[in-house]
Amino acid sequence: MIEVVSRSRCVGCDLCIRVCPTDVFERDTDGIPVIARQEDCQTCFSCEIYCPVDALYVAPLTGPAPDGSPHREEEHLAATGALGAYRRTVGWGGGRTPGSRYDRNHLFTAGMTGQPGTRPNPLSGPGLPQAESPGPDLASPH
Ligand code: SF4
Ligand code: SF4
Repeated sequence: MIEVVSRSRCVGCDLCIRVCPTDVFERDTDGIPVIARQEDCQTCFSCEIYCPVDALYVAPLTGPAPDGSPHREEEHLAATGALGAYRRTVGWGGGRTPGSRYDRNHLFTAGMTGQPGTRPNPLSGPGLPQAESPGPDLASPH
């Protein structure tokens, strides 16, 4: 669920308000979005992906984080790199590696559907392209 909007980072671009499929945000009088209907959040991460300045944090929880949880502490989330971590992980934003570069599902599918003996199994044959890196981990603010 959406837990944090960083007022210090937000530039008031409205993107999160526009992309949220369940209309969770309201624009405050100063143009900064506030979480108005957290209970409607679908934990889709769309707002966090679109935010250009990593001002949002969607917790990987099915309900609101309890009082005192680190999932609600902006300072802690900023210090651990959790603000905007989902956007970084999928590779959105200038200078980042697109998450599709880490995707190997097409190799798995080819291996599962290939006919033995009629074409090489890309999962076991030589020359299997290697991932550039294991990919970033989502920061876990525990
Ligand atoms: S995670 Fe999805 S549903 Fe929740 S506030 Fe963000 S855009 Fe809206
Ligand atoms: S997308 Fe980010 S910068 Fe834009 S209004 Fe929302 S929180 Fe602020």
